[in-house]
Amino acid sequence: MSDQPAPRRLVIENCAVATVDAGNTRHERGHLVIFDGVIEAVGPGPAPAGETGEVRRVDAEGHLATPGLINTHHHFYQWLTRGMATDHNLFDWLVALYPVWARIDEPMVGAAARASLAMMARGGVTTASDHHYIFPRGSGDLLGATITAGREVGIRLTATRGSMDRGESDGGLPPDFAVESTQEALRATEEAVDTHHDPSFGSMLHIAVAPCSPFTVSTELMREAAVLARRKGVRLHTHGSETVEEERYCHELFGMGPTEYFETTGWLGEDVWMAHCVHMNDTDVAAFARTGTGVAHCPSSNARLAAGIARVPDLLRAGVPVGLGVDGTASNETGELHTELRNALLVNRLGPHREKALGVDDALRLATMGGARVLGRDREIGSLEPGKLADVVLWRLDGLGHSTIADPVAALVLGPPAPISLALVGGEPVVEDGRLLTVDEDTIAREARTHSRRLADAAP
Ligand SMILES: [Zn+2]
Repeated sequence: MSDQPAPRRLVIENCAVATVDAGNTRHERGHLVIFDGVIEAVGPGPAPAGETGEVRRVDAEGHLATPGLINTHHHFYQWLTRGMATDHNLFDWLVALYPVWARIDEPMVGAAARASLAMMARGGVTTASDHHYIFPRGSGDLLGATITAGREVGIRLTATRGSMDRGESDGGLPPDFAVESTQEALRATEEAVDTHHDPSFGSMLHIAVAPCSPFTVSTELMREAAVLARRKGVRLHTHGSETVEEERYCHELFGMGPTEYFETTGWLGEDVWMAHCVHMNDTDVAAFARTGTGVAHCPSSNARLAAGIARVPDLLRAGVPVGLGVDGTASNETGELHTELRNALLVNRLGPHREKALGVDDALRLATMGGARVLGRDREIGSLEPGKLADVVLWRLDGLGHSTIADPVAALVLGPPAPISLALVGGEPVVEDGRLLTVDEDTIAREARTHSRRLADAAP
């Protein structure tokens, strides 16, 4: 007999299952078998009999099982500056907040990242991406603080090393003291990839290269960042086509619109995903489709900053990979992905496609498989299929908020945020009976408040 503990097998039965596989297969009453952190079986009815070894059985009566949700765009540090500049458009909001953000330090970013990750994990997110682009001189290891927080909370993380090198004196939006030099930014980005990126199957940490936006980054940094990412084999991320003001800025400065600018700087391709993509014409949509460039749709933030409505139905019809993003919590104070499933459906129905825009299954797909494609992880996560990582959420739908909605996916997307009985990352429980198992929520809330006040005191 080996003294190794028997590998754990988890059997989940008696729940509705939305697999989000290629055929959108659903089981009204089905099962999942998980072995060694990977999905072994999924199907209708009870699990096959005769499982051996140590088995945990979960009777999930009244629940819906889905793939874990995937957040493709966020700025964790903004947890400390929620609820400010609440009646501003993007550019005015940025100008109001840059001087505050430029005072952040490592303990602040750690506290904000833990809070952001905890909030998402508690709401069924099992993979998240962070875009951090402000690195004040002497502020410590901000990316390291985010990565540590990801490890503590226990969900998968794509940490992007952002950057800004176009300060006010170069015609950019941020104040000069909030930006790095082009070479500093490139050197630190390369070091981040070398130190932290883990490309293995089941990885808990990817690094991506992420200059902030056309109006905060020089053309040289855009070009060189793309070259660097491709040399290292990592993904590229930035903000694009968010507002009419950005479009005007690109035409004035570069003599072309944002999508054309991205194409000329090497920023369209299947290794790129871009946040927002609100102001795109048919040629832009076709360029994204032709190159396989992905989109992080952030409907709540776009509404909060009066940016507009992204053409999600057109992007999907053209074959563009589209995922969902919370965006920073200074422009989407909930910090949850559930609001984005709901708002993606609702907001797009206010656009030209009206009731034909997106259905409830489409919304769930954006938040799962769509996100997996956007982050380049669709072979590992995003659907409940044998061989994929066991990132699974069990939503309780027989309680007050949902028990009268017969269609479980409609209940999840259109109803209030559903309680979570179990959320697994690679088969490991992260949430059970609505509580985070990995970290203490109250401690995180207290620390975030302390650091939010520290930042407010340090701000001009
Ligand atoms: Zn953003």
